[in-house]
Amino acid sequence: MFHVKREKCHHCNKTVYAMEKLSCEDKVFHKRCLRCKQCNKLLSTGNYKYIEGKFYCGPHFKQIFLSIGHYSAFSDEKPKSKKIENKETKEEEKKEEEIKQEVKEEVKEEEVKEEEVKEEEQQEEVKEEEN
Ligand SMILES: [Zn+2]
Ligand SMILES: [Zn+2]
Repeated sequence: MFHVKREKCHHCNKTVYAMEKLSCEDKVFHKRCLRCKQCNKLLSTGNYKYIEGKFYCGPHFKQIFLSIGHYSAFSDEKPKSKKIENKETKEEEKKEEEIKQEVKEEVKEEEVKEEEVKEEEQQEEVKEEEN
């Protein structure tokens, strides 16, 4: 099960040991090093997004995905004019609105979670002080 093999973290370039190892997209990370390229938020194998060799959190993936114009990022060609296809553009805009709304909700949820964690940490600190 445990391979004695020195693997370097894709993010910080330090050795990753089995206990702290996380592998994603053929790359190896410390569990604490798999972070969103944009906001540095800690990611897990279940919630990261991978695009163009970079890792993002869900909201930032959507942002980047939208800003580069869907999958046109994977080719060098950029859409010349969106205006010609008026109907499609409108539908795209609608979709983008929906995604933006979704992103807002997700961010909200994450903020709440982070607050809960903070509270837990504070409680632990108090306990330690009492001892
Ligand atoms: Zn690392
Ligand atoms: Zn992010």
